[in-house]
Amino acid sequence: MNTKWLAAGMSLALLCACGSSEEESNNASNNASNNASNNASNNTTGELHPAFAEFDEDNTDIYIEDGAVVIETNGLPNHPSPYWGEGEDLYEEPTELMASKMAGARIPGFDASATLRIPLTPTLADETTATALGSIGIAISGAAIFNDQEGNGPLGGGVVTGLDFTGAHIGPSVYHYHLEPLYLSDDDSSLIGVLTDGFFIYGRKCNSTGSYPTDLDASGGHTSVNQYSTEPEYHYHVINEIFLDDLYILFAGDLQGNVGSFDGVEAGGGMGGGMGGPPGG
Ligand SMILES: [Zn+2]
Ligand SMILES: [Zn+2]
Repeated sequence: MNTKWLAAGMSLALLCACGSSEEESNNASNNASNNASNNASNNTTGELHPAFAEFDEDNTDIYIEDGAVVIETNGLPNHPSPYWGEGEDLYEEPTELMASKMAGARIPGFDASATLRIPLTPTLADETTATALGSIGIAISGAAIFNDQEGNGPLGGGVVTGLDFTGAHIGPSVYHYHLEPLYLSDDDSSLIGVLTDGFFIYGRKCNSTGSYPTDLDASGGHTSVNQYSTEPEYHYHVINEIFLDDLYILFAGDLQGNVGSFDGVEAGGGMGGGMGGPPGG
């Protein structure tokens, strides 16, 4: 073997290795803009945040329209759950305990589709907004994010028993997460989804330090760099406080940003409209 060529090959490989993180983020933004350009009829200006490339391509359609980011989802989770129901591809067996507490409804029984419209550049609001029952965000899986409340009050042991492995259930309509969604993030800094104020929510750890953030506000948010942005930006984290035995609440508290508009099936099952004002308002 010619060692000169081997050396040249190795330095090429090194060059590639050095460029890879930049390449990855280019790929991420390419994916995001591909997703955007699928919708040719829209006014597309600006650039989608690279984190949107993590959203499930089959379950969501994300694009820019009139200066806002539009996230359309069919509301279906892209991972296993007993709530899919037996015979479905993504069905997984519940534990015996969970089976005893599962609501009768199954994922295919609902139209869980929703559309969230948020500012291209989310901004912190002068006043925070309390979250209501129903969707407070859309996860990268496509399914809905709820807060720490059920219709009859705060999450308790009875309800929690009926949650699946990933901290979600149906009650009474769309499939939604209440707890750290383990299929998306398990004690790490992975992206989980976006809330209705346009800010992303990540796992219990922050990519900026690789550890649990210690500077969070009352909503579990702070401003720092992360895996998708070299510019510091505001984002939320799963609450790193043990709930019941070994669980973690996904989100409680107020939204810190200017809330966008949300159209979808609310907790009560009716068609909801507008969780807040227009984008940026
Ligand atoms: Zn619920
Ligand atoms: Zn963080």
